[in-house]
Amino acid sequence: MGNVTYLKFFDVGSMDKVNDLHKRGWKIKPAGETKDGDAICAVYINEGDEREIHTLHCPECLDVAIEVYHLDWDKLTCPNCRTDVNVEDWITEDEMNDVLKRLKKELSYSQKHPRNSVNEFFLEGEDDPA
Ligand SMILES: [Zn+2]
Repeated sequence: MGNVTYLKFFDVGSMDKVNDLHKRGWKIKPAGETKDGDAICAVYINEGDEREIHTLHCPECLDVAIEVYHLDWDKLTCPNCRTDVNVEDWITEDEMNDVLKRLKKELSYSQKHPRNSVNEFFLEGEDDPA
């Protein structure tokens, strides 16, 4: 452990990164400006103080994402549809990426192989889909 402090500098072009770090517990203070007069800020944190953020998607309305600092709860109400969702039913960012990847793969497969789709096979009643 000890007193290790992490320090990073950002200019105004990187405010997204600064905000993200700030949400994780990093502190911000002004640190002068660039030659062009853009503000620079110093972002710093002591080792061990950083908070984990979990991004969760509501299973009812997938594009609603919430950020929580821990998963030590049973139920959380979706701010959009007001459903009480159990902790294990929320969809994590990783699971969401998997779903999107799978959808993309299926989409590009059906675009490359339009004649082999199952629906078409049944619709046309072919015996041999070769
Ligand atoms: Zn919802």
